[in-house]
Amino acid sequence: MSIKTIIYIAGEGHSGSTLLDIILGSREKSFSAGELVFLAEKGIINGEYCACGTVVPDCPVWSEIIEEWNETRILDLDSYSRIQKKLLSKKKLFQANKILKKQPEEIKNFLRDTENLYDTIFKVTNSDCIIDSSKGPAMIPVLRKLGYNVKVIHLTRRFGDVLNSYKVHLKKDPEKGVEHEIKPLNTFYVLFSWFSKNLLTRFYSRGLEYRRLRYEDYISDLKGSIQEIINVDAAVIEKLKNRGPFHPGHMVAGSRIRMKKEITVARKPVDTSYKRLNSFDRLLARSIDAFY
Ligand SMILES: [Zn+2]
Repeated sequence: MSIKTIIYIAGEGHSGSTLLDIILGSREKSFSAGELVFLAEKGIINGEYCACGTVVPDCPVWSEIIEEWNETRILDLDSYSRIQKKLLSKKKLFQANKILKKQPEEIKNFLRDTENLYDTIFKVTNSDCIIDSSKGPAMIPVLRKLGYNVKVIHLTRRFGDVLNSYKVHLKKDPEKGVEHEIKPLNTFYVLFSWFSKNLLTRFYSRGLEYRRLRYEDYISDLKGSIQEIINVDAAVIEKLKNRGPFHPGHMVAGSRIRMKKEITVARKPVDTSYKRLNSFDRLLARSIDAFY
């Protein structure tokens, strides 16, 4: 039996990761999980929406996974979620290895529970590959400690477009995948986050199967880029050629495009006009992107 694979999409948010997750999940034996790090907190505790349109605890797929996971999990859900938050918090972004190395009993249990969760997903969804677009670099050292074949896809996007995307203002609309009001972020906050997440993704991936993928490249050459990541059958190749239709399935969290029933991929990168940026932001973005 072939070893099971986790394709972990890492890097900064607003870089087209949800779309990439959906496309990679269109292969028959792949399961597109979305941002799996949010299963415990957003999915189970807060009861937020799955891409299928029902809340996660009522989703036919996730309810079965959660039920089995509850039976095997060592830590209670709050403790599990607390460790996960600590690992992924912005303040401790550079300390993930240190936290894991200490390996007190609680961390060992956390790792075992995380492996149990992936095992349960593989079993319930009958897949040999899970696509996890959690993005947080701190999950890479966690995945490294589990018994799977891990492929890290380091997804990057021009800083100016990431910044422009973070400047959006969205009102709360849970059914459309916006669980809380989204306010525009400070430019330097985005710059620090973009820089450190990209740096850490590269750093944590040493020794693992790693591929850097630019959002701009995968949109322009959809078929070629996806085939370099994963073997797909003729039906998927046809879809890649036609740029769709792709169907989100049961993603647990991610950008609001996961709530669409059907997706066709644009022929060019979208939202590249910097329309939400002021003149200082534009100058900063152009200077950084000159080196991209
Ligand atoms: Zn669902």
